[in-house]
Amino acid sequence: MSAPRLEVRLDLIEHNVRWLVRRLGERGIGLTAVTKALLGAPELAAAAMGAGAVGLGDARSGNVRRLRRAAVMGPVTLVRSPMLSEASWVVASCDVSLNTEPAVLAALSDAAIAAGGCHDVVLMIDLGDRREGVQSEDLLALARLARDLPGVSLHGIGTNLACRNGVVPDAENMAELSTSATTIEAALGVELAVVSGGSSANLGWALGTGDVGRVNDLRIGEAMLLGVDPLDRSPIDGLRGDAVTIHAEVIESNVKPSMPRGRRAQGAFGSLPDPVDRGDVVQSIVALGRQDVDPEDLTAEAGTAVLAASSDHLVVESADLLRIGSEVVFRPGYASLLRAATSPFVRLSFTGAPST
Ligand SMILES: *Cc1c(COP(=O)(O)O)cnc(C)c1O
Repeated sequence: MSAPRLEVRLDLIEHNVRWLVRRLGERGIGLTAVTKALLGAPELAAAAMGAGAVGLGDARSGNVRRLRRAAVMGPVTLVRSPMLSEASWVVASCDVSLNTEPAVLAALSDAAIAAGGCHDVVLMIDLGDRREGVQSEDLLALARLARDLPGVSLHGIGTNLACRNGVVPDAENMAELSTSATTIEAALGVELAVVSGGSSANLGWALGTGDVGRVNDLRIGEAMLLGVDPLDRSPIDGLRGDAVTIHAEVIESNVKPSMPRGRRAQGAFGSLPDPVDRGDVVQSIVALGRQDVDPEDLTAEAGTAVLAASSDHLVVESADLLRIGSEVVFRPGYASLLRAATSPFVRLSFTGAPST
């Protein structure tokens, strides 16, 4: 098989989604499976839907187009506010979009009317992480606009935490979201179908609390793929952390001094730490680099350690020489996963057909 390769075990993804769907379901929360880390791969989407996700989410219109072309079943939510320039397209291909701007809502409404339909919108509120969303005091006005625009339907509200400033979803900010939902319903005489509490970063809160309030949806990407809690990257008990691996081929293996020789300046990517003299080491090069992964966000298989990386060369150390042509397996963190999925040099390969 060609290398480098991003390998995704669909049976393990299915296991992760099933486990999350069951645990969240006990609390009245549906799981929207976010596919953007794998660029809207239909295989991932189909496995997640087969394992009980209530719908799919992606941030990029191109990825949603891919899902639609593959005829993956399930409602699709655009989880990033639509660009004004893509309003018609969003109305045509997404069932729901997350929104924060009056101008975008107006454009979606116009586009939906032109297409003879209606588009469901979820309004985002910023509860402290300071990425997307309106401030609490402006939510009611935006909700009123959404209610009154003829081409959009006010489907719900939502929030996103942790992604920009690492703000932790907790009882307090989640209660604020629930209260906002109730306030809007009372003030505007509407019913909100969806209260979307956040992402994988909300799992600690959701699975740890007895009372999730009005929250009935989470948008989950990282936890279903990597099995970790994004707040501290600790493994989530019950989830598989080995569903996604990166395989790269050994192109050189040698014994070399650990100390460089000659006058030193910057490396290819800026200043370098002072090397430590550990005598001779077994050093190999695998055909993988910063163009394919974030080397600081890669866990090498047992007995192997990542020493350094430039654009196309990843330097690893091991106890014994590695066979030229053999593969070294790494577990990516989220940053490496994103880069590998986006690198034109890394082949995406699905294994372990899901049981459904
Ligand atoms: C990417 C994204 C998610 C999914 O986040 P994970 O940490 O991968 O679970 C959820 N909501 C929004 C708005 C996103 O952009």
